[in-house]
Amino acid sequence: MTLIRKQTSIPIQKETDVCVIGGGPAGIGAAVAAARHNKHVILIEKRGFTGGNVTACYVENPDYFMAGTQFAPEGIYAEIESGFLSKFGNDNVRPKKNKSFNSETLKCYLDDYLLSNGVQLMLHSFVNDVICEDDIIRAVIIQTKKGPAAITAKTFIDATGDGDVAYAAGVPCDIGRDKDGKCQPGTVAVRLAGANVKELLTDGDKLQKITKEFRAEYQKGNIQLTCKRQDIPFGRLTKAGIISYVNYSCAYGIDPTDNEDLTRGEIECRKYILEIVQYLKTHYVELRDIEIASIAPEIGFRDSRRIHGNYRLTIEDMEDRKHFQDAIAVFPRFYDMLSPDGIMSETSDFSGKGYHGHIFEPVIGNRYFEVPYRCMVPDKINNMLVAGRCVSADHVAECGLRAVSLCSLMGQAAGTAGALAIDNQVSLSNIPIKTLQKQLINDGIKIPMDQD
Ligand SMILES: Cc1cc2nc3c(=O)[nH]c(=O)nc-3n(C[C@H](O)[C@H](O)[C@H](O)COP(=O)(O)OP(=O)(O)OC[C@H]3O[C@@H](n4cnc5c(N)ncnc54)[C@H](O)[C@@H]3O)c2cc1C
Repeated sequence: MTLIRKQTSIPIQKETDVCVIGGGPAGIGAAVAAARHNKHVILIEKRGFTGGNVTACYVENPDYFMAGTQFAPEGIYAEIESGFLSKFGNDNVRPKKNKSFNSETLKCYLDDYLLSNGVQLMLHSFVNDVICEDDIIRAVIIQTKKGPAAITAKTFIDATGDGDVAYAAGVPCDIGRDKDGKCQPGTVAVRLAGANVKELLTDGDKLQKITKEFRAEYQKGNIQLTCKRQDIPFGRLTKAGIISYVNYSCAYGIDPTDNEDLTRGEIECRKYILEIVQYLKTHYVELRDIEIASIAPEIGFRDSRRIHGNYRLTIEDMEDRKHFQDAIAVFPRFYDMLSPDGIMSETSDFSGKGYHGHIFEPVIGNRYFEVPYRCMVPDKINNMLVAGRCVSADHVAECGLRAVSLCSLMGQAAGTAGALAIDNQVSLSNIPIKTLQKQLINDGIKIPMDQD
């Protein structure tokens, strides 16, 4: 059943050169890059803070998988990480001391970082509509407390993680696995207070032992909790007894773009959180006094819509280390895909395409893959790029593309390209690729560039 609503005029709230929608790693990279290339930039974010999953889902040590490898983060993400750590330090006292953000402090750091880079922020602004003329987006429509408002721009960058703007503009999208559209589970992270740090660190890293023991007990059939997750990834541990980023709860069969599914996922995950906290309190003396310090503000997703773009990156491209003349990023080969079915056994069987359990591949040697510019160029719309986890890729490839620091690199390339398109007065599919690559190299990004 549908209702017809009479057409209304919508006030134009702002006009800008580059409008970035979504203030996560991709959106931050895009907004800062475009501003540094002398464009007026508005960054629109539905929440009251930026950072995307890093702040809203407590993903506080995202590049843990690079530790001890020959790879290091690059570009705007690396700048944020080193700037944050030199200002606030790394308060993670776990023996490996993986570089970690305190995501609450990061929210404040990002406010300053974005504003000092000349980005105009518009928080509390949810985009779910666009005004298009032919294949050009004239404006995105934000929903505010005062009603809808339009933001016009020459170039738009969809960094919503869900491809919301592309979807609203009619760009065809895929979601989840080919066969059934199922995505990886959604997770609501939790932060605990009251851990006995001294006891946790007396004999190595007790948190690591707990997650291993939990898994072993699960496999013996001794765990009676209702969540299918068989391990308890713990993040940052601080001197003050905070265990942040407990990435345990998993709700399966959730469509990240469906409000009824999202409601179910949030409620289900909170139930799992209560269960695991009670379990930890009763099974581990070091954790007997823990309590919930905070529950992440929103369920987080590892994958969602993926646009149809000018190139669809495949897992085979990544495995074959395929070289692209329009490469805009090079990234270590690292895959992590939680099984959409809740099968926790690990397998590197890509031919299973996510139907045969958890795909997990650590970084090996110098194995890397390239990301072509064309996977950010959507079919159909001429003045929009898409950056981050919703670019054009197959479902398994996305589990290598979704890394925070790679999403930031894609964003940086999109922001630079957006500025270039305006300077050259060309559509985003016609920008001079070599000029883009030279600018990225000048800005410190290591990408291969073919000779003429
Ligand atoms: C539990 C969990 C653990 C993870 N662990 C790791 C890890 O260890 N390492 C790693 O590298 N990656 C990890 N990831 C993946 C990583 O967090 C994401 O892939 C990454 O954050 C994607 O960046 P993004 O900018 O594309 O999207 P997001 O981080 O999702 O940011 C999108 C932003 O857009 C905003 N937005 C969305 N829709 C709209 C709209 N319609 N209007 C306005 N604003 C909107 C959102 O509020 C958000 O701020 C994890 C993800 C989850 C959920």
